[in-house]
Amino acid sequence: MKAHYLIALGATLPSPAGPPQTTLDHALWLIAEGGDHVIAQSRWYETPAFPMPTDPPYINGVALVGSFKTTQAFLAALQQVEAALGRVREKRWSARTIDLDLIAAGDAVLPDRATQERWRDLSQADQTEDWPSELIVPHPSMQDRAIGLVPLVEIAPDWHHPTLGKTAAELLGGLPQADIEAVVPFEPAAPETA
Ligand code: ATP
Ligand code: CA
Ligand code: CA
Repeated sequence: MKAHYLIALGATLPSPAGPPQTTLDHALWLIAEGGDHVIAQSRWYETPAFPMPTDPPYINGVALVGSFKTTQAFLAALQQVEAALGRVREKRWSARTIDLDLIAAGDAVLPDRATQERWRDLSQADQTEDWPSELIVPHPSMQDRAIGLVPLVEIAPDWHHPTLGKTAAELLGGLPQADIEAVVPFEPAAPETA
């Protein structure tokens, strides 16, 4: 059966494909090349880097992908795309050429509701100490991040979080206004004129 996967795409460092926005375009191309169907994609957005605002800004967006792959196989495919675009696994949240997170897999809650909720409720400090070695879906931090929710609301405002029982638009509405305003549509710099 065809599954619907929501993915968050982010890039901050130049990759072998080019600057971050080109890397993200290329990632969607590679996902399609791998046999999956990019059903919808948001614009690209720009946001100051976290947790070090002195790092280059993030360029990010969200896409809805239709796939016959299992959730595990789909995450493995995303990790292959990351590797093809020069992702080197370093410290969590460090600057990178590309990050592809699986935000949601239809209504699935993986590996089970209790584990997803435990990761979801973990403080950010504890998350830096601990890593999920298994796939957690919905992504345990998606409800806290304007960087993912702003583009998600652009393409799927009525998407429903299966454990929080809120739509994407409602989750975004619960975030601080300053977080939301920090996520602005990415405008490529105009070419310099001679
Ligand atoms: P965050 O997940 O908080 O955004 P990150 O993207 O920087 O942090 P990574 O280093 O890319 O973290 O991934 C850490 C681990 O999370 C990986 O080993 C990956 O297998 C696992 N993981 C668990 N659930 C997911 C998910 N829903 N999407 C992507 N990776 C996941
Ligand atoms: Ca991430
Ligand atoms: Ca990731």
